[in-house]
Amino acid sequence: MSRVVAGSRLRVDPVACEGVGLCAQVADRVVELDRWGYPVLAADLVDGADVRAARRAVRACPRRALWVEEPDASS
Ligand code: SF4
Repeated sequence: MSRVVAGSRLRVDPVACEGVGLCAQVADRVVELDRWGYPVLAADLVDGADVRAARRAVRACPRRALWVEEPDASS
């Protein structure tokens, strides 16, 4: 089972992203594409299925432009 940390988000580096759209193909639960093919990401990852989808998107990205960000527990 995937661990869910409240406030976790999928992030994208807009400079690295080339708008290929593979992320949305493997994780349409948490990624949509805008009219130019660039990702629009879910606001928060709210359950294990979201986290698994986000990790699929991270693995699929050929530009390594995606990552899952967890809130800093120390702050
Ligand atoms: S797979 Fe990577 S490069 Fe392609 S649209 Fe998604 S974030 Fe951008």
